[in-house]
Amino acid sequence: MGDGIKETKAATTVVTAGRRKHWTGGRVVNPPLWRGSTHLYDSVADLRAAKGPVQRNNFFYGRRGGPTHWALAEALTELEPGAEDTYLFPSGVAAISCALLAVLKPGDVLLMTDNAYDPSRSFASAWLKQWGVTTRWFDPMASVDDIIALMEPQPTGGRVAAILLESPGSLTFEVQDVPAICAAAKARGIATLLDNTWATPLFFPALQHGVDLAILAGTKYIGGHSDIMLGSVTTTAEYWTALRRTAYQFGQVISPDDAYLAHRGLHTLDVRLRRHEANALAVARWLNARADIAAVLHPALPNCPGHDVWKRDFSGSSGLFSFVLRHASDDDVATMIDALNLFGIGYSWGGFESLALPVDPAPDRTATSWSADGQLIRLNIGLEDPADLIADLEQALGVLQNRSA
Ligand SMILES: *Cc1c(COP(=O)(O)O)cnc(C)c1O
Repeated sequence: MGDGIKETKAATTVVTAGRRKHWTGGRVVNPPLWRGSTHLYDSVADLRAAKGPVQRNNFFYGRRGGPTHWALAEALTELEPGAEDTYLFPSGVAAISCALLAVLKPGDVLLMTDNAYDPSRSFASAWLKQWGVTTRWFDPMASVDDIIALMEPQPTGGRVAAILLESPGSLTFEVQDVPAICAAAKARGIATLLDNTWATPLFFPALQHGVDLAILAGTKYIGGHSDIMLGSVTTTAEYWTALRRTAYQFGQVISPDDAYLAHRGLHTLDVRLRRHEANALAVARWLNARADIAAVLHPALPNCPGHDVWKRDFSGSSGLFSFVLRHASDDDVATMIDALNLFGIGYSWGGFESLALPVDPAPDRTATSWSADGQLIRLNIGLEDPADLIADLEQALGVLQNRSA
C-alpha cells in the first residue's frame, strides 16, 4: 500500500493504514491474526542476534507483540503526522498512567486540566502523590497566560515536568487552546500529553498541534463496536524511547485478537465519525431549542466554553456531549433515562449504539467548582437514524413532564 503516494487525506489514510504487503503478504486485505507467546529462531546464532536493545517490530517474545500488534501500531502512527511510533496498552487508563510515568520522576510537578477524566485525576492524586509527584490542577477555561504562569517555578518548589490536557473534557466539554499551551510548554522543556479520545487524530491531529504524547482510549471510537478495551500512546521521536522503555518494563501488552478488532474498526473510523457527528449535532440542536433543557455542552454549539478554539483547531465534532436538564432532581434524571427505549444505560462510549448516563462533575473538581441549573446527562449518540433518537428523547422528556404536571 501507499507506494508512490506520499501524502493522502485522512479518510484515505484510515483505509490504507497498517496494510503494507509486509503485514498482509499481499494476498489478503487485513493483516492476519498472529497468536504467539513463543517466537522461534532458526538457530542459536539467530537467538543471540535478537538479544540486546528492544528492536522495533522484530520477533523476540510475545510481550514485545507480533505482526498483528505492529500493523495496528503502524496504522495509528500513520494517522498522526510527525509521530515516531505508537505503543499499545490494554486500556485507555493504562495508556494514560504509563505515559505519565514515562515523563515524570519523583520531585516533579504535573499540571493537569481540572476537567480531566476521573481515573486520570485519581492516578495523580493517589499514585503519583505517594511516588513523590505533586499535581496542580488548573481551570480548563483559564487564559493561556494564567496557565503559563503555572509552568514557572513556584514558591512551593518542584519543576513542572509535564502537562496533561483533555480537550474537550469528556463530561463538560470545555475546549482548550492546545497549540498555545503546548508551544509555551515546549519552550520550557515541559512534556505535553493530550487525551485525544473525543476527537481522534481524524478531527484533531494532536502532534501537528504541538502535543508530544497523544493518548487514545481505543476502547471508544477506534474499536467502535463496544467489544474491546484498548489504549494507545503516539509520540514524537523525543519521547518515544522513554515511553517504550517504561511500557515494556511494566509489561504492557494486549491480546492480538483485540489488536485485530481495533485495526478492523479503524478502517471505518472516518465514515463512522462523520455519522456520529451529524447525528449528535441534530440531537444537540433539537435539545438546545427546548425550554426544559438549561444548556447543551457540545463543542460545535456557540455556547460551549472554548467553542471558538474548537472552530479554529478541529475539523469535526464527534458523538459525545452533555446537556443540563433544567431544575431536575436525581429522581427526575432517573425517570427520564429509564423511559428511553433506544439509549442503553452504561459507561463508556464511542460505539455504534446510543447511550445515556447521569453524570455529576462536582466531586471531580479541584481548581474550579461545577454548578448548573439542573442535572447533567451525557449522551453517546450512535449511528441510528437521528429522527428516531429525537423521538425517543421527546417521549422520555414527556414522561417527566407528565409526572411533574
Ligand atoms: C474511557 C476513557 C478513558 C479510559 O479508557 P479505558 O479504555 O476505559 O481505560 C480515558 N479517557 C477518556 C476521555 C475516556 O472517555
